[in-house]
Amino acid sequence: MRLLLIEDDAVIARELLLRWHTGGWSVEACSTLTAADLACAHDAAGPAFDLIVLDLGLPDGDGVDWLARLRQHDRQTPVIVLTARDRVADRIFGLNSGADDYLVKPFDPDELDARIEALQRRGQVTRGEVLHFGCISWLGGEGRAYVGKHALELMPREFEVLGLLIARAPRLLPKRTLVDALAERNLEVGDSAAELYVSRLRRKLAGSGATIRTLRGFGYVLELLANGEKL
Ligand code: CA
Repeated sequence: MRLLLIEDDAVIARELLLRWHTGGWSVEACSTLTAADLACAHDAAGPAFDLIVLDLGLPDGDGVDWLARLRQHDRQTPVIVLTARDRVADRIFGLNSGADDYLVKPFDPDELDARIEALQRRGQVTRGEVLHFGCISWLGGEGRAYVGKHALELMPREFEVLGLLIARAPRLLPKRTLVDALAERNLEVGDSAAELYVSRLRRKLAGSGATIRTLRGFGYVLELLANGEKL
């Protein structure tokens, strides 16, 4: 994975670079928006990075303005905004400007990594790939899912939720990631609507050998049932 980090706080930048290099990710770091422009410009063949982590308060401008400019020619590359601004208005402003996710400083680097991985997964899901979990097959391009050879009768939202769950299984799908992913498809999805999709989907997966476990306050995990267990 190729990451671009735009962050002028040397301590945070050093910590993240060390962490990501250790984890095997390739990272370019910039401390100004001018440097970020150069980093993004030198690859005309397509987006230069798989994901961008963007601080908002930078010495030569506001990251939100930079993001709005980026989005004029690059709608694909996921961007996670890092900022000390914790007001709700700023959060909404950042997301409207084209950010895919948002983390308020001080943040837990583990959480940042989890968000990065979630966005990567989401990108893969939307590229219409085929995912498998146990005997469930999820065909993004066709918009259909199967248990063995039996087609599941899913509503579009349930299909999307299943794709997100399989993409992360057997790891946790954070509830916030689920709600944000559904909201990104231009639907106002509240927490209770997300819960409803999950519970309907759970019923439809009965007999599939897999079920959705709720981790209250955290999210959902798609997991295989123990041998022979049925819902
Ligand atoms: Ca800063």
